[in-house]
Amino acid sequence: MIRSGQPGPCIFVVGGIHGDEAAGWMAAERLQNQAVLASGTLCILSPANRTGAQALKRYVVNSGDLNRVFPGEDSADDPAMRLAASIFHMIGEWKPNLVLDLHESKKPLGAGGLGYSLIFSDDKLTGDLIWELLLSNEEGGVCRNNFGTAFPGVSRSLNRVVTEQLKYPVITVETLRSDDLEERISEQLSVVGFFLDYFGMGEVNEAEEK
Ligand SMILES: [Zn+2]
Repeated sequence: MIRSGQPGPCIFVVGGIHGDEAAGWMAAERLQNQAVLASGTLCILSPANRTGAQALKRYVVNSGDLNRVFPGEDSADDPAMRLAASIFHMIGEWKPNLVLDLHESKKPLGAGGLGYSLIFSDDKLTGDLIWELLLSNEEGGVCRNNFGTAFPGVSRSLNRVVTEQLKYPVITVETLRSDDLEERISEQLSVVGFFLDYFGMGEVNEAEEK
């Protein structure tokens, strides 16, 4: 978590719900060093599925798909259910102005996948956020790839459940796994950086890649 020391909005970034979607959690981890905050708070949870990320597997090890069991259950035997519940509670405690959920897809949007898309589940909650980013992209400002949109998040995903039950805007960012890893990480960081700027919180310094 990065606190600016100044009051302001909160953005909650979740990386690595799916452990094999490496750019999502690697970008989230780089934010710890590369986000420069002037106001507000940036919460970074990454990799959310730590055992899966260590094994580079989609599922929680010895369990199932974390992104199909939200809001989870605290006392469940299943590790993914317990993990989903703790993530759900954590987001609820922070009351973020925006949740960014960083993922990757094996195929592009429009070709049976979600690569380079922004997923939302309630356009009243996400409001202008997605359209402002797409507009900036069209003007050549933010991402190198042409992002599209997808609606809604799948049933029992973080996106869908946090949107419906907590009523916070959630945007799932999907990059394309067949692209170069550094390119994908850079695109993820560009999206987070856009929203830090949008909320007047700060920026992501992409020049200082480790
Ligand atoms: Zn995913």
